[in-house]
Formats: sequence, structure tokens, C-alpha cells
Amino acid sequence: MSGKLYVVATPIGNLADFSYRAVEILKTVDLIAAEDTRHVKMLLQHYSINNNLISLHQHNEEHASPGLVEKLKSGLNIALVSDAGTPLLSDPGMPLVRLAKQQGIDVSPIPGACAVIAALSVSGLPVTRFTFEGFLPRTSSARKTFFSNKKSDTATWVFYESSHRILASLEDLLEVISGGRRIVVARELTKLFETVVNDTLDNVLEQVRSDNNMQKGEFVVLVEGAVVEKNISEITEEQSRVLKVLLKECSIKTAVAMAVEITGARKKVLYQAALDINGK
Ligand code: SAM
Repeated sequence: MSGKLYVVATPIGNLADFSYRAVEILKTVDLIAAEDTRHVKMLLQHYSINNNLISLHQHNEEHASPGLVEKLKSGLNIALVSDAGTPLLSDPGMPLVRLAKQQGIDVSPIPGACAVIAALSVSGLPVTRFTFEGFLPRTSSARKTFFSNKKSDTATWVFYESSHRILASLEDLLEVISGGRRIVVARELTKLFETVVNDTLDNVLEQVRSDNNMQKGEFVVLVEGAVVEKNISEITEEQSRVLKVLLKECSIKTAVAMAVEITGARKKVLYQAALDINGK
């Protein structure tokens, strides 16, 4: 019978953010495939885990994954870990998981820390819809093209950034979107110097520029989605006023039904305007 591949999330800073189940799995599998075997040893030592390690990183994973899948097929259980957070999220692991699944191997997640999710959870920005963009291009011109393409996205968008480029990235962002747009910089999450700044792009950029510490560590940047005023502007000022008053008191459905009665505007247009007003 084939073994099982466990995709195990590890802490993104605070070593205590590791589950009992994750420790158990790392103790009992036959092999741990790690992005950096030296780096993971700190975590293993902390939890008194003594197990076999093999290296699986971005430069060898295409080549090494078939061998690991053979081991899984022969019955060995393997855990996949990256340096921090959830494997595959801007981290190695995709070729192994894809191949294992193609070969009918059971792949099971051991969930835990992930910087993008941790940042979203404390950002104060809408999280019902978001897009995760990983790391941005390294050159300024490619970044600006990327920002131009994202500019009208109405969902919150999130990217990872390094200390070398945080300032340049925010400066590029200001060249493309309004300085009044709300953004969040989440820095050093779960660590000693954890900082989460939620403000307009203008103000956040000023803080990052003027405080050297705000350019140190690891960063997640979140940008509030573009606001669509289209449907609100399709109704008259009076219709909008009536709808807003009703929305304060009633559900969307009731408010729209009453606004149709009162103003005579079309239900579909009022309904969409109500969603826009409520920010959905
Ligand atoms: N797989 C990881 C995850 O689940 O979050 C991400 C790995 S990616 C190579 C590393 C990047 O994630 C960092 O450059 C930074 O942008 C972000 N990151 C990781 N840990 C972080 C932390 N504690 N605070 C803020 N951002 C972090």
C-alpha cells in the first residue's frame, strides 16, 4: 500500500505557533522533505523531533520529486515542510504535490501559519474577496505594469515584499493608484517587532520613508480594492437618498422593495446600488 504525503505548515516567526498534530506527524513520518534542512533543524530541536531529512528546494524539486513519489508508492510516509508558513505558497512543493496526486497518492494538509492569511485577518480590510499575488516583479517598470493591471480590481489584493524593495514598491504603487487608497503593511507578524499599519497609501509611504525600522524584516502588503460607484450613479440623488435611509433600518431585500414602491426606479438597478452602498 502507498504511503501518504503530508503538507505541513510551520511557524512564520513564533515557534509556539505549531500544532500538536504537526509535531506528531513530523515525529512519525518516515522522511521529512524540507526546503532547507539546516533551517528546519531549529524547529525540530525545539520540539524534540529527531527524524530523517531530505532537501527539496526550488532548484532541485523538478528533479527530486519523482524519487520521492517512488518512496511514497513503496509505502513510506513523507512530510513536506518549507522554511516558514505553508508550503507551496510562494514556496517549494508544487511539483511534488502535483506528481503525487497524478500517481494516486493520498495528500493531506496539516494546516497552520500562513503570512497572507495572518495579515488578512488583522488588516481591517474586506476579506470576503481577495487575490494573492505572491512576490511582485523585481524591476520598477514591471511592477508598475503589474499595478496598472490590478488598479481596477474590486477585491482586496495582497502581495509579499522583502525589506530590499518595500520602499521602492510603495513608491511605484503611488505612481499608479491614488494616494488616498487604503493600504496595510503587515511587518514581522508573530515576531518581536510585529507592526500592522492601516492607513492611506500617502500616510503609509511617509511612515516607511521616515522610519528605517519600517524597512526591516518581512512584509505582507494589502491594498483595498477599487470602489465601484457605477450603480450608485445610475440612480438619481433622491433615489439614492431614499435607499440609504431604508438600508439603515431594513434588510437589503426590504429596502429595495420599498425603494421601488417609493421612487419607481427599476428593482435590478436599486438592488445593485444597495450592494454598492453596503460595500458588498
Ligand atoms: N509560505 C510562506 C507563507 O505561508 O506565508 C511564505 C513564504 S515566502 C518565501 C516568504 C515571504 O512571506 C516573506 O518575504 C514575507 O513577504 C512573507 N512573510 C513570511 N513570514 C512573515 C512574517 N512573519 N511577517 C510578515 N510577512 C511574512
